[in-house]
Amino acid sequence: MADSNALPLVILSEQFAKLPGIGMKSAQRLAYHVMEMSDAEVNEFSQALLNAKKTVHTCKVCQNFTENELCAFCSDQRRDHGTICVVETPKDISAFERTKEYKGVYHVLHGLISPIDGITPDKIRIKELLSRISDGNVSEVIMATNPTVEGEATAMYISKLLKPFGVKVTRLAFGLPIGGMLEYADEVTLYKALENRSEI
Ligand SMILES: [Zn+2]
Repeated sequence: MADSNALPLVILSEQFAKLPGIGMKSAQRLAYHVMEMSDAEVNEFSQALLNAKKTVHTCKVCQNFTENELCAFCSDQRRDHGTICVVETPKDISAFERTKEYKGVYHVLHGLISPIDGITPDKIRIKELLSRISDGNVSEVIMATNPTVEGEATAMYISKLLKPFGVKVTRLAFGLPIGGMLEYADEVTLYKALENRSEI
């Protein structure tokens, strides 16, 4: 934003620009839009930010976001708690839920191993997964990380850790384009990837 702009608008634009996918131009547009909003709307918006941050935390079992102790999947007794689908982010869960075919539960890693970016295995929720497996009653772990270099490396790393537990570890059959993101996969593609998963 040009220097002629009021400082609070510059500061607001800089905050928007910190969000993923928002460049400086879009950030300015959003900041100007806020000026068009009513006081009530701005208040509602800022309360929603604070409230989400304050009340949402990770599920103590699967690490998905929830406002309760257990998320909707972990507390649903109709789901198959013996099958765990391991994903990178909570967003990926929505992709699997869209298929309406997956009836197991999930585990969210909140990242992928990437030593070059300083993300070592201890930085993502792997030990929480291991403790679920060591509690027993898990028959299959589906590695559903994206088919990227980091996604594959993370899937292999975790599958090696799980071997001693004697649990079946499978990987999605990626007819998904290499480097393609689960988030953007259509239901049929994802359902097929799930159906045709193979043991690793
Ligand atoms: Zn959960």
